[in-house]
Amino acid sequence: MYNEPIFLKPVFKDRIWGGTKLREAFSYEIPSETTGECWGISAHPNGPSKVLNGPLEGKTLDQVWDEHAELFGNQEGEEFPLLVKILDAKTDLSVQVHPDDSYAQKVEGEPYGKTECWYVIDCEPGAELVYGHHAKSKSEFEQMVAENRWDDLLRTVPIQPGDFVYVPNGTIHAIGTGTMILETQQSSDVTYRVYDYDRRDTEGNTRELHIEKSIEVAMIPHEDAKFEPVESTIDGLKKTKLIQENYFTVYRWELDGPSEQYENRAYLLVSVLSGEGEITTDGGISLIKKGDHFIIPSTVKQFSLDGNVECIVSHPTV
Ligand code: ZN
Repeated sequence: MYNEPIFLKPVFKDRIWGGTKLREAFSYEIPSETTGECWGISAHPNGPSKVLNGPLEGKTLDQVWDEHAELFGNQEGEEFPLLVKILDAKTDLSVQVHPDDSYAQKVEGEPYGKTECWYVIDCEPGAELVYGHHAKSKSEFEQMVAENRWDDLLRTVPIQPGDFVYVPNGTIHAIGTGTMILETQQSSDVTYRVYDYDRRDTEGNTRELHIEKSIEVAMIPHEDAKFEPVESTIDGLKKTKLIQENYFTVYRWELDGPSEQYENRAYLLVSVLSGEGEITTDGGISLIKKGDHFIIPSTVKQFSLDGNVECIVSHPTV
């Protein structure tokens, strides 16, 4: 039986809007000076993470999902459901929207749509996000897009480090300049771009827009999703439940000293945002530190933690 955490090697993505903070803040070996995304826990075909330790070392997470259902509580599902990323937005991301599951299946032949959420790790003073819009009807939305009235259409909200933003499918959104976030999302890469600030890449090309599909899937008029965080402390570990919704439940863990934990979840996805410590299971002691991503499989029901770490932790909501 596998009785230790499954550590994963992140996959990095070069993006027109990316920078170097993934190296500066997390000491990752990034492939370019415009690295936008670290896929920390991914079984997605566009960038699956590989196991770094134990008997499954070298396997990709999608292989582990297919071959070792017992590690994931034998949960049903063809595909691993979640994807955890860290994003470094040196400049603005495109204004975009994602479909729900049924639209993604019908129109794109993809298993999942995309509901996502963001924990703001760091941002510049005055940083903003695009979250929602001001159109009252589809026709008003279409008209504002056709007339390039982006300032009238798009709603911006200020953010600061530690903020949490829930982005259900259909929400018009964009991450803004100078923001580093941890994103927990459905395992999907289906994005419809509404607006890309008329940007050109180094070859002078603009990126494709998907206005029609965007308007089809967008929530119009926009409504804010609300969830009040719930705090609890279990044997010295402070757990703040940031969101519980249809697809995922996400927590912030703050550890300061030793703690004994029992988990009845099928499995947990853990990303360490700061500090260092250790996790002890039947399989032994593993060091954990800022930038680590790992899964606590369902075969590990009991573990102890020690050290001083801040983590974002998630599991599928079942
Ligand atoms: Zn998005």
